[in-house]
Amino acid sequence: MGGSAVVVGGGIGGLAAAIGLRLIGWEVTVVERAEVLSDVGAGISLHANGIHALDALGLGEAVRAAARPQYTGGTRTPSGSWLARMDGAALARALGTPIVGIPRAELHRLLRAALPSECLRVGAEATDVEHTGTTRVRVSVDDGSLRSGLDANLEADLVVAADGVNSRLRGRLFPRHPGPVYSGSTVLRAITEQPVASRTDFELTWGRGAEFGHIAFRDGRAEWHAVLNSPPGVRHADALAAVRSRFADWHAPIPALLEATRPDAVLHHDIHELTTPLPAYTAGRVALLGDAAHAMTPHLGQGACQALEDAATLTAALATEPTVESALARYDAERRPRSQSVARAARRAGRMGQQLTHPLAVAARNTALRLAPSGVTVRAVLQHADWTPPAWG
Ligand code: FAD
Repeated sequence: MGGSAVVVGGGIGGLAAAIGLRLIGWEVTVVERAEVLSDVGAGISLHANGIHALDALGLGEAVRAAARPQYTGGTRTPSGSWLARMDGAALARALGTPIVGIPRAELHRLLRAALPSECLRVGAEATDVEHTGTTRVRVSVDDGSLRSGLDANLEADLVVAADGVNSRLRGRLFPRHPGPVYSGSTVLRAITEQPVASRTDFELTWGRGAEFGHIAFRDGRAEWHAVLNSPPGVRHADALAAVRSRFADWHAPIPALLEATRPDAVLHHDIHELTTPLPAYTAGRVALLGDAAHAMTPHLGQGACQALEDAATLTAALATEPTVESALARYDAERRPRSQSVARAARRAGRMGQQLTHPLAVAARNTALRLAPSGVTVRAVLQHADWTPPAWG
């Protein structure tokens, strides 16, 4: 079965879906409202499930080559003592690939490079979606051409709504869904300007209501992120200075990471998530994918991995099912329970980790982590990362 598809949103999820659909012979147009196709963000960890999805889409090797495997690391307290060490080699043995860390811009560039430029339309905002018959869907697009009397709207056999956490298409298709809510946490993050000496590939450090983490890249630079309990909308005139002051007495290499960062490199976002699960990931011939379907907090590093799983699963369903309808039914059945359960687990991980503030609760959690047998952290990661893409072709 081939056909035509419009993918709304050129983030990691939308580009991965477009790559998959093209692999199985579909004609694809990606519409992205930004004028420049890129990813705003610092770095990203990809767990084995995300890497296996990329393998299915033909990009696993390229991403592995550009990324740094995470073999050493774990969770610490602000004074530097270890709560749990991660056995990255054991994980890689169990899952066939290590977790990797990669700059988001590099991952996005690799995805973009796998698509011909003629299927990407930037500066084009989808404003509505509607079915024009039983098998056709139209996306209304504002790219400025209406003002010049031209019609920028697109019609196709399938629409993939990959327009992120604030998805406009989700709002049109599920008008009674309450949409995303503020998670209670805000994140400041950046990539260092220069390489920073770090004895580990990644670390997380939990204080009370605060987490500082870093991921080392292949070239020695690192991304760091500071996640804080906060009311929404709080902003600082000098974000880097605010982070330095909040984490001033935290262990090495945190001061060095902040020292190696340019003030204008710091990004600050409030974290929103879908706490009310969507009742379906499809509506007629529209499939919701990535954050549009299941925006989750970043506490398990799984949001993009789930978007990549969505893309590989949608591709496999369309390649093997007899009709678009049965493919979308299978996509919904396979993706909704899994991604919504990962989203719940990410919320729980945040509550037990970064968001915990009561000193007794923090002490009890830290003691439990220190006493846990070494295999516990490996099993916790395996629980979400152990996923095999459905076969096609
Ligand atoms: P997005 O990246 O939001 O892309 C949506 C795209 O749609 C955007 O380009 C937007 O401009 C476009 N768009 C929106 N509306 C329209 C419209 N109407 N018309 C046209 N275009 C539109 N995940 C991991 O797997 N590992 C990690 O380590 C990790 N770390 C994270 C750290 C932080 C601090 C945060 C906040 C998230 C993290 N995530 C991580 C989650 C991950 O970033 C997201 O889940 C992922 O980027 C979602 O991709 P997406 O393509 O679904 O959405």
